[in-house]
Amino acid sequence: MKIYLCTDMEGASGVTMRSEIEPNKERYEFGRRMLTRDVAAAVEGLKAGGATRIVVLDGHGGGDNFLYDELPAGAEYICGRGGDPIPFLDDSFDAVGFVGQHSMAGTPDAVWPHTQSWTDVLGVWANGREIGEIGQFAIYAGHYNLPVIFLSGDRAACAEVRALCGDVQTVAVKQACSPTRALCLSRAEADKAIYEAARESARGTIRTAPCTVEVPVEIRVRFTKTSLADGCVQTGAERVDEVTVRRMVPSALDIYRM
Ligand SMILES: [Zn+2]
Repeated sequence: MKIYLCTDMEGASGVTMRSEIEPNKERYEFGRRMLTRDVAAAVEGLKAGGATRIVVLDGHGGGDNFLYDELPAGAEYICGRGGDPIPFLDDSFDAVGFVGQHSMAGTPDAVWPHTQSWTDVLGVWANGREIGEIGQFAIYAGHYNLPVIFLSGDRAACAEVRALCGDVQTVAVKQACSPTRALCLSRAEADKAIYEAARESARGTIRTAPCTVEVPVEIRVRFTKTSLADGCVQTGAERVDEVTVRRMVPSALDIYRM
C-alpha cells in the first residue's frame, strides 16, 4: 500500500502553546521535536503494516518544521514551501492520512482549532458543508479517489475526521480543556498508540470511502474582517455579505482557494 501523510503541528503530541508552534519562539524546538516523534512513529507503524511507499508532507507554516535528520528511513519527506498545496499527491497512492492534525475553526474543546488562519477565517464551506483543514485535504485526496485511513491529533480532530470520512484509525494524543491547554498522553504512550494505529491502518482492508464532492465546487469563506472579503472580491469571488464570499471552482484540486 502506498500512503501519503499530511502533517500539522497544532495536533502534535504534547503541543498546546503558541510558543511551541511558531518559529523563533522559545518552545518551538520542543514543538518540532514532538511533531518529528509523531511522524517517526507513524512511519514506523505504516512500514510494519506493509506500506510500500510513504510520502510525508511538512504542512505547518513554512514547511520547515521536521527535524529531518531524525526521521526514519523508509519514507520520503516533502520539506519547504511553494507550488501546489499538496505536492506529489496523485493516483499512484492508495490512501492518505494525517499526523499532528487540529480541528476546524470554531470547534469547542479543541487545541488550536482553526481553518488556515487563526486570525482571519471564521469558517469555510464546500457545497454548503462546513469543512476545516481535514475536509480540505480529504476532498483534495478524493479527487484521486484516495480515502483517509489514519489520523493522529487531538480528540476533536479525531471526531471531525470520523464524522466526515467514517471508520478512520484515529489516535487522540490529547484532549483540550481550552485552546491552549490539554490532557496529554505521555510521550511513550503517544509513540506506541500512533505506531499501532498506523500499523493497523496499513495492514487492514480499507474501511473508508474517498471524500468526493460534486464539481464545480462552491467554496464559501467567512472572514473576520471586511477587508479580507474585499481582497477575494478583487480576485473574482462573489460577495455574500460584509465578511463572506463565495466562488465556484472547477475541481476538488481547487479546494484550498479562498
Ligand atoms: Zn498548523
